[in-house]
Amino acid sequence: MKNKPLVAITGASAGIGKELAFIFASNGYPVLLMARRKEILDGYDEIREKVTAKVDVTNFDELQEAITLGEAKYGPIDLMINNAGVMPLGDYVAQPRTEKYQTLDVNIKGVINGMDAVLPTMIKNHHGTIINISSVAGRYSSLNHSVYNGSKAAINLLTEEVRKENAKNNIRFTLVEPGLVKTELSKTTTISEAMEIYQDQIDSLNGGLDPKMVAAMILKIYELPQEVNIKEVMLTLTAQMV
Ligand code: NDP
Repeated sequence: MKNKPLVAITGASAGIGKELAFIFASNGYPVLLMARRKEILDGYDEIREKVTAKVDVTNFDELQEAITLGEAKYGPIDLMINNAGVMPLGDYVAQPRTEKYQTLDVNIKGVINGMDAVLPTMIKNHHGTIINISSVAGRYSSLNHSVYNGSKAAINLLTEEVRKENAKNNIRFTLVEPGLVKTELSKTTTISEAMEIYQDQIDSLNGGLDPKMVAAMILKIYELPQEVNIKEVMLTLTAQMV
């Protein structure tokens, strides 16, 4: 039986990325797992076919090195999931500029770095899939989310146009826009007033969507035949009004 191709996941140390790591591995894919907390990735003992790397997605060289390492062991990456993200919430005026820039750096530059690191090989191979994790926040603005809204909205149009330009190269692009998911994401919010409002939302949705659901849907999208491209998906709890 032919070996399954390498799947690369950024932000694999928690939340959606962690579930992606486990579902792809348990379905027979070797995985390249990237995050700043490499020690967490190394602790995924159940995942045997893996390469782990300490990667800050804002640093292109770190991403590139990790990819070289993964591809040396398992061959070309056929699926890149640009998942790493942060969400420091706050009233625009109150939010420190450092947090604003961090949001743009991780959520936009990180995705650009991820795409740039794999696209040349995918184009050469005339095969590949890139899945960018956006958010309902990329479609709808909401209180205290302004910079996060902006970062995710940027990913929506960026993904759309890069997808169009690479249709001729047989590369699929999928934009995934989850609603509120039960993860560690809110820990990057430092402004307590904003956290209190967000916590009310979390509580009203019993913690949010199970990240396993997001990961399972991404596996299904990827396993469609290469000529079929699910371009965009928004998934939320039924109870979530967006
Ligand atoms: P978590 O906080 O649980 O996980 C975030 C992951 O991103 C961690 O593995 C973290 O790893 C990684 N990360 C953060 N900054 C960097 C960085 N600079 N370089 C590399 N990795 C980084 O959040 P989620 O699982 O919820 O988030 C995953 C994606 O889903 C994000 O893009 C988020 O915006 C999006 N999303 C989440 C929703 C939610 O409600 N949870 C809703 C909609 C979209 P480490 O700290 O080890 O580097």
